[in-house]
Amino acid sequence: MLAGPDACRCIECGLPYRAEGFSYHQGKIENGAAYWSDRGIMCSPRCSLAHHRKREAEGTLPQTPAPDPFEIQPLNHR
Ligand SMILES: [Zn+2]
Repeated sequence: MLAGPDACRCIECGLPYRAEGFSYHQGKIENGAAYWSDRGIMCSPRCSLAHHRKREAEGTLPQTPAPDPFEIQPLNHR
């Protein structure tokens, strides 16, 4: 897991992991967060996209493609 113990909350909105509304991989909490980056985890597609856009604006997007394909990949292929 990329995220350390201190990163177990959404890095965009601060929602704690295991909180209601957090998206898990395949919907199972034991599978980990559904969305993450090299900086931490995100609770939802909305926060994942918000994080991606923030990183894009900063010019600090990771060199490797983000593992979340749903919202992010179309932006990478622009
Ligand atoms: Zn969030």
